[in-house]
Amino acid sequence: MKRLFDCRLTPDRKLRTLDEAHAFLQDRRMLTLTQDSAIPSLFAATHEEAYDATKKGFASWPKTKWSWGGELAERATIQAKKFGARISVPAEATGLEDRGEHHVVTLEDGKTVESRTVVIATGARYCKLPVPRIEEFEGTGVYYAATQVEAQLCRDDPVVVVGGGNSAGQATLFLARHAAHVRLLIRGDDLGKSMSRYLADRIERSPDVEVMRNTEVRELVGDGGLEALVVENKQTGERRTIAARALFVFIGAEPYTRWVGDHVALDERGFILTGESAARAAGNGTWEQLGRQPLLLETSCPGIFAVGDVRATSIKRVASAVGEGSMAVRLVYEHLEHIGGVR
Ligand SMILES: Cc1cc2nc3c(=O)[nH]c(=O)nc-3n(C[C@H](O)[C@H](O)[C@H](O)COP(=O)(O)OP(=O)(O)OC[C@H]3O[C@@H](n4cnc5c(N)ncnc54)[C@H](O)[C@@H]3O)c2cc1C
Repeated sequence: MKRLFDCRLTPDRKLRTLDEAHAFLQDRRMLTLTQDSAIPSLFAATHEEAYDATKKGFASWPKTKWSWGGELAERATIQAKKFGARISVPAEATGLEDRGEHHVVTLEDGKTVESRTVVIATGARYCKLPVPRIEEFEGTGVYYAATQVEAQLCRDDPVVVVGGGNSAGQATLFLARHAAHVRLLIRGDDLGKSMSRYLADRIERSPDVEVMRNTEVRELVGDGGLEALVVENKQTGERRTIAARALFVFIGAEPYTRWVGDHVALDERGFILTGESAARAAGNGTWEQLGRQPLLLETSCPGIFAVGDVRATSIKRVASAVGEGSMAVRLVYEHLEHIGGVR
């Protein structure tokens, strides 16, 4: 690896394959490549990039100056294939079961894929408000998560949260610390009906939050960005326009977990339990027999991992889903080592 640093790379030629990388470096009596040392070259579009990647020891990122989603996905696919991944597209998983020491994923066309480990990353479907123009404002004024990022975006602005569950309650209290004014819209008249009492109490006591009961959003108003909402009181039929630079929607999400059946433990909303909560849910001596507890992203079934939105208690963000995916790879190796080494 070290000797690659001496390499005088120029951007005139592209290294496309491992063989080319070998040839290039051996031509220059650089070194005999090991698999590891070759990795930076494999992802780099040019020698210059290979040099940069090597210098940074940054082998796991498909180097690119700027990409749109499609291009980035394409590069990621090429990278995965270079590592030996086999990709089936389209392929819908419809079942999961054990066969000996393997897990078997059944696909929609009846084919099966056998593996000692499975990483589930099937995500969740967010319920959307049935309101015109909702998609137009998604990402710029309509959000499905309230993190520090969104809080900064709507700092000192009036915001509206829709939903009567705990997610809506937590988001409301969090946003009340940042936004100019927070309105919480619920369809019913009792905040404590589907929200934990402690959250409902705190919201009702908060001077920065206005709870609008029996109220639904009817229209989104804005030219370029969200400016206001037209809301309707379901009991009186009265409509009014309220200022809103951001609308946070927390009316439920359905994880794509029907296909896993009861093979792994789920929470009450169908999200996959991992780590300690998976161990508690397993409760059949599986883990005692193995002599270890589930790893951080491991489900109640040894060797099956869950990452991203489909995982209970995960942060529902792109960066965290990607981060969990990369963590899972490390944990897969840990599991494989435990059951008899990586083959
Ligand atoms: C409207 C909207 C706006 C958002 N905006 C942001 C934002 O600005 N920033 C941010 O960080 N996050 C945002 N999020 C959240 C972000 O999209 C998710 O957190 C992230 O995509 C989760 O990644 P994931 O890989 O877990 O799941 P997903 O990205 O949902 O990917 C899951 C994939 O699995 C596939 N799948 C499902 N079931 C099966 C099956 N049985 N077999 C095979 N494949 C299956 C799905 O088709 C999908 O392609 C937004 C979400 C929504 C809905």
